[in-house]
Amino acid sequence: MQINTCRAVVTGGASGLGEATVRKIIQNGGRAVIFDQSEEKGLQLQTELGEAVFFIKADVTKEEDIQEGVHQAADYMGSINTVVNCAGIGIAEKVIGRNGAHNLSLFSKVIHVNLIGSFNVIRIAAAVMTGNEVNEQGERGVIINTASVAAFDGQIGQAAYSASKGGIVGMTLPIARELARYGIRVMTIAPGLFHTPMFDTLPQEAKDSLGKMVPFPSRLGYPNEYAQLVQSIIENPMLNGETIRLDGAIRMQPK
Ligand code: NAD
Repeated sequence: MQINTCRAVVTGGASGLGEATVRKIIQNGGRAVIFDQSEEKGLQLQTELGEAVFFIKADVTKEEDIQEGVHQAADYMGSINTVVNCAGIGIAEKVIGRNGAHNLSLFSKVIHVNLIGSFNVIRIAAAVMTGNEVNEQGERGVIINTASVAAFDGQIGQAAYSASKGGIVGMTLPIARELARYGIRVMTIAPGLFHTPMFDTLPQEAKDSLGKMVPFPSRLGYPNEYAQLVQSIIENPMLNGETIRLDGAIRMQPK
């Protein structure tokens, strides 16, 4: 699929990797609807980027938000042929911490937002995509999820986060297999360390030392480098049913 034909829903599109994805799609002539909980940043981006972008305040974990949002997005853009799932949260908590056992509701929350939220958007958007006309390559759409290297080398304190991202990796192939008959591809990106607002609170020294852990290039990734991979996945029809690490060869240590 050519990126200028993109009619994309980007969850978490108001910040970080999602925002870079929205910018990439717009700069290349496509259109995007942002689903995010952060109204202030979402509306800011909508104002800045003009009518190629529309912001919808939506919580990916809520069935009604996504049902309504997907239909609104399809009306606004004429159709949806791309989903990029970037909405996510991270926590750090040990199974046995200073204050006792891991908080169970916090564990559930991370699974809910990162894994179930991604699935919620996939299932509702894919149902709408099946109604698209096929393009010259037989495609009706592409779905791109965001896992993390923590799906493979999770650190101490990342039980919930790693489980949520491992779930995303695990569901990629079965969903790709099922949606193949409709010409809808499903891919997942597993980023290493990227410079997003998550890291803005860290002092420069801490950012530099995190960057040095990356074999090459020895720095945090730029969100635009994530968006560049999104573009390649959109444009290359042979990419399907797989998770790609985007990490400068980093392998996270136990802590
Ligand atoms: P970010 O915090 O900059 O952006 C995440 C966005 O998701 C925010 O705008 C937030 O409002 C939104 N969001 C959170 N919960 C939501 C919900 N329930 N419904 C709708 N929107 C919601 O983070 P980022 O660094 O851009 O991360 C994007 C994704 O990439 C996340 O899934 C994260 O786990 C993953 N990731 C990031 C890194 C990194 O180094 N930055 C590394 C690996 C994986």
